Amino acid sequence: TDLKHIRNFAIIAHIDHGKSTLADRLIQKCGGIEEREMRDQILDSMDIERERGITIKAQTVRLAYKAKDGETYELNLMDTPGHVDFAYEVSRSLAACEGSLLVVDASQGVEAQTLANVYQAIENNHEIVPVLNKIDLPAAEPERIKQQIEDVIGLDTSNAVMISAKTGLGIEDVLEALVTRLPSPQGDADAPLQALLVDSWYDSYLGVIILVRVKHGILRKGQKIRMMNTGASYQVDGVGYFTPKMVQVDALNPGEIGFLQASIKAVADCEVGDTITDEKRPADKPLPGFKPNVPVVFCGLFPVDAADFEDLRDSLSKLRLNDASFEYEAETSAALGFGFRCGFLGLLHLEIIQERLEREFNLDLITTAPSVVYRIELTNGEQVQLHNPADMPEVTKMAKIEEPWIKATIMVPDEFLGPILQLCTERRGVQLDLTYAGNRAMVVYRLPLNEIVFDFYDRLKSISRGYASFDYEIDSYQESDLVKVTILVNAEPVDALAFIAHKGQAESRGRQICTRLKDLIPRQMFQIAIQAAIGGRIVARESLSALRKDVLAKCYGGDVSRKRKLLEKQKEGKKRMRQFGKVEIPQSAFLAALKMG
Ligand code: GDP
Ligand code: MG
Repeated sequence: TDLKHIRNFAIIAHIDHGKSTLADRLIQKCGGIEEREMRDQILDSMDIERERGITIKAQTVRLAYKAKDGETYELNLMDTPGHVDFAYEVSRSLAACEGSLLVVDASQGVEAQTLANVYQAIENNHEIVPVLNKIDLPAAEPERIKQQIEDVIGLDTSNAVMISAKTGLGIEDVLEALVTRLPSPQGDADAPLQALLVDSWYDSYLGVIILVRVKHGILRKGQKIRMMNTGASYQVDGVGYFTPKMVQVDALNPGEIGFLQASIKAVADCEVGDTITDEKRPADKPLPGFKPNVPVVFCGLFPVDAADFEDLRDSLSKLRLNDASFEYEAETSAALGFGFRCGFLGLLHLEIIQERLEREFNLDLITTAPSVVYRIELTNGEQVQLHNPADMPEVTKMAKIEEPWIKATIMVPDEFLGPILQLCTERRGVQLDLTYAGNRAMVVYRLPLNEIVFDFYDRLKSISRGYASFDYEIDSYQESDLVKVTILVNAEPVDALAFIAHKGQAESRGRQICTRLKDLIPRQMFQIAIQAAIGGRIVARESLSALRKDVLAKCYGGDVSRKRKLLEKQKEGKKRMRQFGKVEIPQSAFLAALKMG
């Protein structure tokens, strides 16, 4: 296809505003699949994505659209994830396109990720087409929301497209808007090859698949290519595109988005943002790259059964083939034995990886408290990065400790503003800005990342009955008065429960956790003391009285099979426990204990 007949676009929206549903409608109309193969949210192909109703990996589909001008256009659609943890996936998809469809739910209006995504689209020089979705809903107020988009974002909405992705109303108008309003890509077919590496993943049948956007030159089957940054070189086995089915072609031309396969063994060779060039006739310089993807939340993952350690290592390496954004490194814990310290983009990312390990690889895991990355300067001048609270050096050995701060944008209806401001203050937030758009307030805060990793998002949602939305970016490191709180169970420190907190809050958090653990640890046949300590000083103490737990007593004799079932259930329950000295702590305690009230 010549450049004039290509349009590359992303769909951006706040979560649940209807991106995936719109993508479904577009694929139904112009994609390469039969009606009987169509199912909802066809791009959300991973099971977890489908169950949670979120898009994790950005996907791309080529559509063929015969426009009203009689010409047929090649439309390359990129679906993007909406959750803050995956903001990076959004940014790399946008770099491969010239325009964006900005989907806004006409019954909800502009939300935090609407804004965050628009800013990224503007940074990428995108032409933005506003699309008001869900106009079939009785609660839809398209005129009011159009005004809000103008006020808050400053985007002209006079020719916004009104649609219902659910019923299919207005889909044709979306397609026409893409053709008439988005610029076509530019590129020189005769120049040396420069293709942007947008994404890569591992497919168990096909090996590593790379998603590319060809900027200049032509990417051909059989060609010898080189990654300009990693230096790796490969022979291209095949190129093609998704409809969303895989279609092989001989070449990808400038302006096109598609995939390549090259018998690549490791995704590590395929850095997102790298430039792919021709080995024989290389480009003189790479395309401008992307920001690197840095894990910001770390936690320990340990097998419940120590014998599963090698299995866990194997599973992590397989998962990493698919998701280069998480890191892992072997670690040992006095309490939990051998495991891995893993880094994630955020808490949702952590939960997804944990769930995939348990589900797809059949592993029982203990997850320790998530922690941010602290920077420490030791008194001997050495700089260290601290990923694990248990490893925090003694106070006397530290010259200073710094923690990461974020800049958070929260959008919330007026009536919930008070409690939201209070929450931010409790979490050591510093207000930067407060503005109104109609009856919605937009607040910008600086907050320590440490204060949001556990439960900030949950709290925000519950305080605002689900109406607040939230987005953040990493801001900078700042020196802080931080201490390590150690939790002791029957006088033994449990390293996996240690956490770092600001001095002003450490004691009360320590107390909270002891109270919470008292409920989370089942009573056992002897008394258990639960204590919190800061630098050797006990700041809280709870005690759990003894109990003789006899499951069979409940059965009043009689039913033998019921007894056996109960026994098995109890055994099953044991699998999820960890022994500390003589005390058993259930897996759920490790995370639950740290959620603040
Ligand atoms: P995404 O998170 O932006 O990908 O949103 P989804 O496409 O998953 O849609 C979120 C929810 O809104 C789903 O339950 C959809 O069925 C629903 N939805 C999407 N578009 C429409 C629409 O036009 N009208 C109505 N009534 N519901 C819609
Ligand atoms: Mg989706």
